[in-house]
Amino acid sequence: MRKRIVVLGSTGSIGTQTLDVARQHADKLEVVGLAVNSNVEALAVQVREFGVRHAAAGDIRLAGDARCDQVVQAVNACGRHGEEAAQAGTFGVGPEAVLDLVRLPEADVVVNALVGEAGLRASYETLAAGKVLALANKESLVVGGDLIMPLAAKVDAQRRAAGTAPKVGPAGALMPIDSEHGAIYQCLLGEDAREVSRLWVTASGGPFRGRTRAELEDITPAQALAHPTWNMGAKISIDSSTLMNKGLEVIEAHHLFAMPYDKIEVVVQPQSAIHSMVEYADGSVKAHLGTTDMRIPIQFALSYPDRWDAPVKPLDFRTLGSLEFAAPDTDTFRCLALARAAGERGGTLPCVMNAANEVAVAAFLAEEGSYLGIAACVEATMDAHVAEGVQVVESLDQLESLDAWARATARRWIGEHRG
Ligand code: MG
Repeated sequence: MRKRIVVLGSTGSIGTQTLDVARQHADKLEVVGLAVNSNVEALAVQVREFGVRHAAAGDIRLAGDARCDQVVQAVNACGRHGEEAAQAGTFGVGPEAVLDLVRLPEADVVVNALVGEAGLRASYETLAAGKVLALANKESLVVGGDLIMPLAAKVDAQRRAAGTAPKVGPAGALMPIDSEHGAIYQCLLGEDAREVSRLWVTASGGPFRGRTRAELEDITPAQALAHPTWNMGAKISIDSSTLMNKGLEVIEAHHLFAMPYDKIEVVVQPQSAIHSMVEYADGSVKAHLGTTDMRIPIQFALSYPDRWDAPVKPLDFRTLGSLEFAAPDTDTFRCLALARAAGERGGTLPCVMNAANEVAVAAFLAEEGSYLGIAACVEATMDAHVAEGVQVVESLDQLESLDAWARATARRWIGEHRG
């Protein structure tokens, strides 16, 4: 039987690559729901190609917009020509319409590739509905890991009880799509987590590796958007250049693999050939290598516990050349140290850190804030929250109100440090 997937963020970088995988494996994957933020033109094309009956656009400003008509026509056409001819398609606008997709009875797996904090509620509702969550949205774990991981454990237990979990290994309720976490997940298969001595999260180092702080003062958005090895969206490209992305990944790894922070190391591996490593008690290290193509980790998250063929160019070790390793420069790239500090302190501090970073990155991209201002803004907002008191994470509503507070605080900081 085909796995029935819902893709949230289907026109973004991860979303389109997920649909590439679905196209390649039409015998194994069926797309049953698609959600975008606002690109309804591209959504209509995807709905038609995959014969999808349920779609949504998260941006509430699209309500009543004539551009949505083509999506309505597309889902209805699929409803008429589909196997269950009696059922009409559905198309909704707004955040609630996106959440309705994760609760579709016919969905087995939700690929969450939403950008930013908006993805957290979708992750939460996916697991609350007992579905498998294939997770590309980093904020879900960075901000809400304390809420998401217990839910994932519950779905794992349900999957074991229902016999839908693999015979051996993790039950698979939460599958990471990030290349680093996908790599660690695979290195841990067949191992006893108690025998792990360290996780090595690899970093490309970004486009500014080797530069000094003084050399980063006048960096422009265009320079920061040119990533050396991975082709990604704007927000994550900036995060990669500041190493905030790696900081977020350290926090994700902490939650995903229940690993204390002193057992998570970051190492710069500029070729990005090694996607991460796991070191064991006896000093043995397992590394995951492969071509730098996001479709491989996306596909593994969907194929687990199996492996499927992938139309990617395999690594040729005869032409790979040398592999370099270096410690990250956290004095220059302070976001990595700030994120780790937020993770170690825990509670609501990572939520505040993440929100401040989203605001500062957006300001930098809009040329309203400087490149080095990103770390400074994040630090100032974190300090303000620490001064008011970091809280234990208790609910999505609590996180959403703190997220809003952090955004306002960060915006005020940007306004005060303009020009
Ligand atoms: Mg990554």
